[in-house]
Amino acid sequence: MIPVTKPYLPSREKLDKYIDGIYERQWLTNNGPLVQELTKRLEEYLGVENLLLVSNGTLALQIAYRALGIHEPVNGKPAEAITTPFTFVATSSSLKWEGIEPVFVDINPNTLCLDPEKIQSAMTANTTAIVPVHVYGNPCNVERIAELADKNGVKVIYDAAHAFGVNYKGESLLSWGDAATLSFHATKVFHTIEGGAIIFKRKEDLERAKLLTNFGIQSQDVISCNGINAKMNEFQAAMGLCVLDDIELVISKRKKIIERYNSVFNGLEGVHTLESNTDTSGNGAYYPILFSTENQLKRVIDALKAEDIISRRYFFPSLDTLTSLDSLTDPSCGISRDTASRVVCLPLYHKLLDSDIDRTAEIIRRCVNEFHDAERA
Ligand SMILES: *Cc1c(COP(=O)(O)O)cnc(C)c1O
Repeated sequence: MIPVTKPYLPSREKLDKYIDGIYERQWLTNNGPLVQELTKRLEEYLGVENLLLVSNGTLALQIAYRALGIHEPVNGKPAEAITTPFTFVATSSSLKWEGIEPVFVDINPNTLCLDPEKIQSAMTANTTAIVPVHVYGNPCNVERIAELADKNGVKVIYDAAHAFGVNYKGESLLSWGDAATLSFHATKVFHTIEGGAIIFKRKEDLERAKLLTNFGIQSQDVISCNGINAKMNEFQAAMGLCVLDDIELVISKRKKIIERYNSVFNGLEGVHTLESNTDTSGNGAYYPILFSTENQLKRVIDALKAEDIISRRYFFPSLDTLTSLDSLTDPSCGISRDTASRVVCLPLYHKLLDSDIDRTAEIIRRCVNEFHDAERA
């Protein structure tokens, strides 16, 4: 079976050494030495400051919202955040969970990220934030979003779960926004089994967030705010330190796989791949391709499945259609809905063999040729 993704597992010997250390110190959690070491090394590797490790990427979002105060009701009514419907559900469900109403604005068809030109008309007196996603690691129009946020006096929190290590115009993409959040879930490019991080623009927001992740406990005898438990533990950090040693290798392997897929699909009519943005380094996180219709998409998924190759409908459905979110949006996210209906992510992980890539690509090429023949007939 070829799965859509596989976690990167580092050298067992190296991991065991870290775990021996944990056993010696008997310090398992609460800002232990490995969490401190990983914080420093990630700040260096990513080229950022004010990084806070947390237990997962969803709590990273929730803590960021609260540290920046965007959850506070406005004039007795729930706060609203302008966000994208084309993402993993956690971007919006975390807003809803914090009592913030997600207001969906459509995506740009080229970047598949929030379309900045549609943001202004969605602003209301209750808007406290914009929550865009660098989907598939593709940068949002960060300059334009910063302008709009300034003009309207709202905060920007990037869900950067896909953007680990992505540079934009020579600098870390993660330094854009009042905060950017990462997920270190096992399926992500860099992982700590479960885990996440927040990168804050301002030190005082980082300090507030630290309190929030540990029940608001300021010192032995002072609880200064209402917090929760969102701490990363030492075993997660040990995994992270090992994976970080090998991350360059993992990313370069993923990029090679993408090149090999591209060499087959470029110019193949009926298959659309994401254009690469020349301002960005990319991180090889996902390989999405779009077909002409949902029907074709489903037939490709089935044809792959018949050969034990698993692809995944990332991201489907468009979140503006979810009744659980009960969003305030009028149903106008047509580009997101259309994209979600036709896009699939192909297998992509460091151990994927050239022969697996070629076999996957060949099945898709065969399907597409059949679609053409059917159209001509
Ligand atoms: C993975 C992911 C999350 C959630 O992260 P977890 O670590 O799984 O909680 C949030 N947003 C996006 C866009 C993701 O891909």
